[in-house]
Amino acid sequence: MRNYKGRIHSFESFGTLDGPGIRFVVFLQGCPLHCKFCHNPDTWPSNGGEEYTAGGVFDKVMRCRGYIATGGVTLSGGEPLLQAGFCEALLELFKTAGIHTAIDTSGAIPLHKSQRAIDLADMLLLDIKSPISCVCSELTGQSNENALATLEYCESVGKRVWLRHVVVPGITYDDEALKAVGELSRQYSCVEKLELLRYHKLGASKWEGLGIPDPLAETPALSAEEFARAKEIVNSLH
Ligand code: SF4
Repeated sequence: MRNYKGRIHSFESFGTLDGPGIRFVVFLQGCPLHCKFCHNPDTWPSNGGEEYTAGGVFDKVMRCRGYIATGGVTLSGGEPLLQAGFCEALLELFKTAGIHTAIDTSGAIPLHKSQRAIDLADMLLLDIKSPISCVCSELTGQSNENALATLEYCESVGKRVWLRHVVVPGITYDDEALKAVGELSRQYSCVEKLELLRYHKLGASKWEGLGIPDPLAETPALSAEEFARAKEIVNSLH
């Protein structure tokens, strides 16, 4: 288990945004999606980043154990479940050590590959790109079928889920689409909360640096007023 190898993009030893409490966030390399709003397109290539053993990552996290006593570890990315076997090895190690674990995922990986890692994690942060399939395809290049199947699976086994959703002007900042997000979050008892995230422009320089045309170059950041309105819409019952 300790010798299982995977590729890591980066680490954050004091994360406050990716799950409950203070968390050590492990960003795994590789992502099968190409979200137009991605802030980290440098995580996309599976052969990028740096190779680590699961034991090497575990030891690095354990050096910060004091900080994360009230939180835990979050496997993020990229799409962590693209390296499902590596996630399983990491999650087994953290479970044995009594460390709380979360997987921050788009749900894009088919369940027959991701299920064992999901079973091992304490919770999922599930980033629903859009509950409307054609919007999801337009935004990410893939349908939402696997993400919805992942949510169904979490419901069936009682896995704790925080749903996340990025609100993008002109795409997901849309009354019907936002109502669908609100409905989805209320439909599943495994969903403890829904976090809306504002589209911002902080990733723009990365697209430029990688020489990839930014499909949202002309799209402005979501304003505070629009964000407040988006929250009202997802919380309204029509
Ligand atoms: S799933 Fe995340 S890392 Fe992958 S393209 Fe979308 S925003 Fe970027």
